[in-house]
This record gives sequence, structure tokens and C-alpha cells, in this order.
Amino acid sequence: MDRAVAEMVVAAARLATAGKYAIEYMGKSPLGYNRTFGQPIERLVLIDERIPPPAKGDQYFKTIEKWRHTSKRRPYKRLKKPVLDEVIPGIESDYAAAFIDFEINTKSKWSYIHYINTRRDLSGRNYMTVLMDEFYKYASKKGVRSINWGKMMHPKVSRLLKKMQKRYPKISSSGGKNFDPKTEIDKPLDLSDPRTSDDPFQPRQGPRIVSMSSAADVWAQGGAEWFAEAFFKKYKSLNRLMNKTVKGVVGESKQRGSASATYDATKKVIRLFPKFFEQREKYGEEFAAHVFAHELGHSIESNVSWYEDAQAAGMDLWDTANLPFGQPNMDEAFAECFAILSVRSDPGDAKRLAAKWPQWETLVRDTAAKVGVKL
Ligand SMILES: [Zn+2]
Repeated sequence: MDRAVAEMVVAAARLATAGKYAIEYMGKSPLGYNRTFGQPIERLVLIDERIPPPAKGDQYFKTIEKWRHTSKRRPYKRLKKPVLDEVIPGIESDYAAAFIDFEINTKSKWSYIHYINTRRDLSGRNYMTVLMDEFYKYASKKGVRSINWGKMMHPKVSRLLKKMQKRYPKISSSGGKNFDPKTEIDKPLDLSDPRTSDDPFQPRQGPRIVSMSSAADVWAQGGAEWFAEAFFKKYKSLNRLMNKTVKGVVGESKQRGSASATYDATKKVIRLFPKFFEQREKYGEEFAAHVFAHELGHSIESNVSWYEDAQAAGMDLWDTANLPFGQPNMDEAFAECFAILSVRSDPGDAKRLAAKWPQWETLVRDTAAKVGVKL
């Protein structure tokens, strides 16, 4: 542990009392994240002493221990002694209502928000707005000029981003939308799970076992497996990603949101939705291969560190107006460049990439090489 981190762990400090709430600086976040940008990940927490304690299973607020009672190889066999598979650390306070996990680079004056969460039973009470406000003040004091919200998994987060853009016009705030604005607008806040890596109890996940409850499920899973097999046969060098950044390909029988495919970074699984198969039918194999490769690109960018390389090359990843092919954020830009370089469904795109964004081409090639993929 370096000194900066060690100091942060000790330094739980009350930063501000905003009305009836208190904002506490908790130092280093207890959660392990697969990707960092080189700085320790810090945490701010909103404390409200009037709220009831969290429910037992309230992930990230209560520490959760996951015990396994059956054998891994033979799931029907009951173990004599249960095994502790995973510990997901919670906040050691009954009064924590919301938290923000973030990184700040004081030298380059940016911040990246890794994860935000409000206790389930307290959603809709504006806690996150209050906390975000304090976070922006905290970041401004540290000289931060731009804040990247990463992948936003819910429209509520996107609305909060807009609010902050208005409130803090001197700070450039951006984020990528990862939801379907039409269908998900009224659902309760459910952000993507952060990953609890670096955890000795974390089980190694094998290929995901899907429960087949309907003919549609069977078809979707079979279709996904068939597609993945054919894909990796054709693009042999990408096989290296299997069991490294991708542990399985899952067919979904129900369309969720507007995506045709997604990469689930928590489970390291690529999900193919009905829309994926519709588009494959309509636009052909190469189109589908490009979409699939785009998700493989996400599997690389969210597991391999590449920010420092970009910084060393003098690239500005926060300059969202100039990302390759009009991509909204750096993660999308990476995934799209990877798809273009690996599948080459459109030679014109590959040419344009080399001519207009040569640094991106080098960055994506070098990062892919770190997981053994030669582009
Ligand atoms: Zn994408």
C-alpha cells in the first residue's frame, strides 16, 4: 500500500454538514475495481442520523458474506462445512444513505466517478443530489476541471449529470448513456454493480450456467453459442480473450433496453439480445461480427489498464468532441476502434482510423497486445 493510500484509509473526516446531513470523507473505497486510472479510489458518504439501519442484505451498505453449502464440481452434493465464497464490504455505519466512489488526478485536474449508490429504501429522497453537490465542491477545491461520470446505467443519473452541468458550468462534466431512455424511465434506481476483485474469497467464475425455462431461452442460448463458435473460428486470434476477459456468451430470450449486445463486466459475460439476431438476419454476418467484436473491445477496455498509456502519448480522453467516429466517451471509442481493427467489415473505416486518429489505433493495438491479441 503506498503512502497516499495509507493516509486515506486512516482519514475519515467530516467535510461538511449540509443542513441535516453530514458528508464524510472515508478515504479509500473498500470495494476493489477492475480498472483504475492510477490514483487510489476515494469515497464520500452522506450520513443522516435520522434513518433506520439498513436491511441485512443491503449490498454495499451492509457487509455481505456469501457462503456456499454445496460442492462446486457436484452442485447436488452438500458440504459438511459451508465455504465462504465472497465478502462484499459494506459501510460500517447504520446512518450511511449514499456514497460516491471516485478518483481524482490533481496534476491533470480531472476526476472519474467509478460508482454511486443510494440505499435502496431511501431512493427518491434527493440524497444523491446533496452528496453530488458536496462532491463537486470537494473536487473544485482540489482544482478539478473535468469530471467523467463513466457509464451511466440509469436515466436518473443522466438527469443528475445535467443538473450538475448547469450548476457547475466551469467544470466540464460528461458521461455515456447506457440505458434505453424510453423503457427505463420509471424503474427504481438500479446501478450496475461494482466489482469486488482483489478478494481472496472471490470464486473463479466458470462459464455461466443458464437456467433454461422456455423454448425461447433454449433457442437464444443455442443461437449465441453457435454464433460465438463460428466467430472465434473465423477470427482465431481473438480466441485469446476467452477465459481472460470473456468467460461466456449468453443468449437472452427477452429484449432489455435497446442494446443488441452488451458486455457484463461483473460476470465477464457477453449477452446477445433478440435484436442482435434480428440485425444479423437483416444486415448479415459481418455486421453481427462487428457488433460482437465491439463488446469484446469493452471486455478489454474494462479489464486492462490503458489510461496511463494514453496519457503518456499525450492524448486527451476527456475531449469528447474529438473522439474517433463521434463516439460519446472514451470507453465507446475504444470498443469501436477495436471492432474496426479486428473484424474490418468496412475497410474505409480502418483507413479513416489510421489517417485521422493514429494515436487511437496505436493505443488499441498496444492494449489488445497486453492480453495476447495481435491486431
Ligand atoms: Zn459500446
